[in-house]
Amino acid sequence: MVSKLHFLGTSCMVPTKERNHLSVAFEHEGSMFLFDCGEATQNQIKAMKLPIGKIKKIFISHWHGDHCIGLIGLMLTLSNTEGVDKFEVHGPVGSKTFVDHMLKCTVTQKRVPVEVFEHNPEEGELLPIIDNAKFTISCARLNHSTPCIGFRFDEKDVYNIDKEKAQAFGLEQSPMLARAKMGMAIEHEGRTIQPEEITYLKKGMSLALVFDTRPCVGADLLAKEVDHLVMEATFSYEKHAHKAEEYDHMSAKETAEVAQANGVKHLIITHFSQRYKDVKELEQEARDTFENTTSTYDLMTLKLK
Ligand SMILES: [Zn+2]
Ligand SMILES: [Zn+2]
Repeated sequence: MVSKLHFLGTSCMVPTKERNHLSVAFEHEGSMFLFDCGEATQNQIKAMKLPIGKIKKIFISHWHGDHCIGLIGLMLTLSNTEGVDKFEVHGPVGSKTFVDHMLKCTVTQKRVPVEVFEHNPEEGELLPIIDNAKFTISCARLNHSTPCIGFRFDEKDVYNIDKEKAQAFGLEQSPMLARAKMGMAIEHEGRTIQPEEITYLKKGMSLALVFDTRPCVGADLLAKEVDHLVMEATFSYEKHAHKAEEYDHMSAKETAEVAQANGVKHLIITHFSQRYKDVKELEQEARDTFENTTSTYDLMTLKLK
């Protein structure tokens, strides 16, 4: 099944007519994971006709307003959406207090339970926070002006049946093939067939989402050899390198250097300052260092391979 990224908002602190506060929805095998939730994210979800009730896990990188203000409205809507009986919020230390404040700032009649998970990885640690048979989601500490974490999604490798090879053994319809997919040998017509004789390894897809930060060891850990790195590129290095440093953000050139240094396959840049009317200049700046770069715009969907 194809995984997709939906870019709900691509702006940093001050949204524009064209760019909403930051939020990215990640669609994977029927699930919808939301990464950050700037103002009016739910309106963008509606505009993209995404199934809002499928959002059961929300990841917040940090509690600066442009990454979380929309959570108040989204939580209200989720509480009034059929099929949603609870949901989770994952974020850095302090998340329980922030969610609690949000829940207390309005009078709400119907509220489904929200479970908040605070994650506090050590510097230089890639901390697994969700691990199941299909994928792992990990987080790492970033270098920003408030506690901030980035996230990494690693799909597990799977063994698929090589139909031609299975056919050669007369096994194309056998229920025993399920054993081979699990890496077990099969007894068939008096001989033992090893799983590698009829399967091939399908590498799992990897994705990192690294928002507000300066270059740091955490960003490197998250980006290490991923297929797709979604990362902030707030400023142009050429024009505003000093601002990137002053506000604890990245310039497009620095973001491209992270991708280059960590063997990333595809870089996707977002979280742009309102001062750039056309972000192609940021994309070009990144491409000068890392060719396979895509810049994002609101309501854009990207299929991941
Ligand atoms: Zn931001
Ligand atoms: Zn921030």
